[in-house]
Amino acid sequence: MRLTVLRARKRFGQNFLVDTGMIQKIIGSFDIKPGDHIIEIGPGRGALTQPLSDSRCELTLIEIDRDLAAELSVRFPDAGLINQDVMTIDFNTFAGKSLIRIIGNLPYNISTPLLFKLFDSGEHIHDMHFMLQREVVDRMTALPSTKAYGRLSVMTQLHCHTEKLFEVPPQAFSPRPKVQSAIIRLTPNKKATDVDRKLLESILIQAFSMRRKTIRNALRKFLTADELESLHLNPQLRPENLTIDDYLSCTRFVEDRS
Ligand code: SAM
Repeated sequence: MRLTVLRARKRFGQNFLVDTGMIQKIIGSFDIKPGDHIIEIGPGRGALTQPLSDSRCELTLIEIDRDLAAELSVRFPDAGLINQDVMTIDFNTFAGKSLIRIIGNLPYNISTPLLFKLFDSGEHIHDMHFMLQREVVDRMTALPSTKAYGRLSVMTQLHCHTEKLFEVPPQAFSPRPKVQSAIIRLTPNKKATDVDRKLLESILIQAFSMRRKTIRNALRKFLTADELESLHLNPQLRPENLTIDDYLSCTRFVEDRS
């Protein structure tokens, strides 16, 4: 069965879920328990919000669109509604008795900056379930020495255990997006790393902007060939061959040296 959608605002990345079978499948994968504190980002016309609300969890909704927020406040009076850009929200303010669970069929234009923002609040988060462009999910879950492995894979897996759950075809939405989507589960791994994050990010940007070069060349700005070898890294390797631990070792080395 398909729900009816009246209008959608392109600038807010509005592709609403309308396939009720798919909505049930997505909600089933959340494994909601009564009393969970769930934060839904971009609830839109409430396709996921309705079953979430039925499950008797504590619900907080973050929606940027004023008209949709007005509808949501009437339909879900018991939910906490924040009519704001999610990028302006400080997720640390949700720190409380229980860890939060975050859910969202995210607008694809803000997905990467939003993910990086949420990685910083991992200690308050139990898990996150997101619908994203399939290609982004594949990059987030990619293993070293594969084509999809890059900066997003390292930064995501540094902070979270990742699981690609299943794919969602364009027909499940209205209007239909041009891309395939997928659901990913992210569980913060709580092992706060001791490295300088900014430095790590600079090393990753440098490395993956030259992914066809050897690390001797790609990381020249940071490490000499001898220094790479002292870290047991063959300078002839390519950036995509290095594991997350390898990138952490490089970062610590540069940090300790300066
Ligand atoms: N959850 C609904 C569904 O599955 O049908 C809507 C998903 S739609 C892809 C994305 C939703 O995020 C829209 O409701 C849009 O208005 C909202 N949104 C877009 N940018 C946002 C932002 N920066 N902060 C909060 N919500 C945003």
